[in-house]
Amino acid sequence: MLARFWGVTGTVSLPTPATGSPMPAGNTTCLGLEWPGRTVVYDAGTGFIRFGEYLLDLMAQGHEESRSIDLIMSHCHLDHINGLLFSPLTYDKRVRITLRACPATLSALHKLLDPSSSSCRTFLPSTFPDMVAIKEMVTVEPGSSFNLGDAKVETMALRHPGGSLGFRVSLGGVSMVLASDNEHPGPRVDPALARFSEGAQVLYTEGQYTRREYDGLDAIGNGLPMPRKGWGHSTMEDCVATATAAGCQRLFLGHHDPLRPLDKLEALGIAMKDLAGRNGPLVEMAREGQAIHLG
Ligand SMILES: [Zn+2]
Ligand SMILES: [Zn+2]
Repeated sequence: MLARFWGVTGTVSLPTPATGSPMPAGNTTCLGLEWPGRTVVYDAGTGFIRFGEYLLDLMAQGHEESRSIDLIMSHCHLDHINGLLFSPLTYDKRVRITLRACPATLSALHKLLDPSSSSCRTFLPSTFPDMVAIKEMVTVEPGSSFNLGDAKVETMALRHPGGSLGFRVSLGGVSMVLASDNEHPGPRVDPALARFSEGAQVLYTEGQYTRREYDGLDAIGNGLPMPRKGWGHSTMEDCVATATAAGCQRLFLGHHDPLRPLDKLEALGIAMKDLAGRNGPLVEMAREGQAIHLG
């Protein structure tokens, strides 16, 4: 199984940080999972537009199987859907997107995009009938599991305003957990996420803040310090503790705060690696375009 990060920025796409070169080009959440005969994509932030270009290239080269993709969605906040709304892939009748999401996300998408909804066209001009690639929408109850080809996909409800769904994709004896956005219930280990991630080779999750930023003691970029409790996001330190408790081999932190300068993010990556130590997972800040081979 090949995992590739197409977008790892949180909250809003911001391609030109105040200082330093862009850490990950600034696209919001999108991660591709590929194995022979299957293409799965997790979330459709602006990174989905780059993912779509990649897929359309494959189709142009004659890879017919690339026409069919499974989109698994964590939730409906704009930074996780705005690539779907504007990617040429979504409007390509040759493409077959099967979209899987929890009831709350599907309901929100219908309010936004169903022509019979009073909110339709309030935020964007196109509607579901225009998005001809979306051929099927499947409800996934949090806690349920399903199969995508040979892979087993388990789900869990995450802690986030409006809800969010985490996924554990297992294939050929290895698992990758995708858990964004999620606010830990307290300092240190998130017990539910640790249980869900137990023994997974890779945990991708979000630590948008440091503990001091979360508590309102440090600022990000030039802004004023402010407490972030209840905003639905976690601290890097708690993600390291959770991945360590779960026995994960590798931890990728994403949903990077768009205001954080690159040099600061890289320094935090080193600090989190040190924090995990020898007994914890190998910690990395996820980078846009980065690919990981599992198994
Ligand atoms: Zn988000
Ligand atoms: Zn969110």
